[in-house]
Amino acid sequence: MSIFAELSQLLFPSRCFGCQRLGPSICSACRSSWHPHYYKSTFDNLTVHSALFYTPTASKIILAAKESGQKGADELIIEAIIHVLEKRSVDSSLCRLVPIPSGRASQRRRGRSFIVDLVSQISDRTAIPMLDCLQLSRKVKDQSRLHRDQRARNLAGAFSLSCAARGELILIDDVVTTGATLREAVRVVNSQGFHAVGPVSAVTACVAQPLR
Ligand SMILES: [Zn+2]
Repeated sequence: MSIFAELSQLLFPSRCFGCQRLGPSICSACRSSWHPHYYKSTFDNLTVHSALFYTPTASKIILAAKESGQKGADELIIEAIIHVLEKRSVDSSLCRLVPIPSGRASQRRRGRSFIVDLVSQISDRTAIPMLDCLQLSRKVKDQSRLHRDQRARNLAGAFSLSCAARGELILIDDVVTTGATLREAVRVVNSQGFHAVGPVSAVTACVAQPLR
């Protein structure tokens, strides 16, 4: 550890993102519920590959990254997504990583577009190009308190394309719950025309159980 890292550790001791205990960014107890595996789920025709179940620990880690911009928490999510991409042995010459963007209000509040920021780091490390082609074209409600049908209605027509989507697309998001967001994103990339897009799948850090 460098002297600066040691000093900063002394001044700003790190805490576990899962339980707030002083120590590493994830303690051994919380690591047991944040241990990337490989889960496959399908939502209509879309296959979603995920690393972890969306446990209370996972939700705290995601919140720390998303709403507090904690780099250590970002890192845990980035590692989880890369873990899944490696399991799938993705061909980086054919595939494009497509981040699911957040709304303008959240971007302003967080000072970044959360998933776009993570995916650009994932792209640097895996050499799989990022294609940031989706944008939210209108306001959407926070999904967390909505049921399955309400989520689908909330997102219908919410995305638009900011550039052409080509190749084999892997949509990237933090959590999949009902699949409403990802399915709407698939609909939009497929709506642009004939033969432009190859197979579309999705990778998320977490999969929430079952709220379908
Ligand atoms: Zn902990």
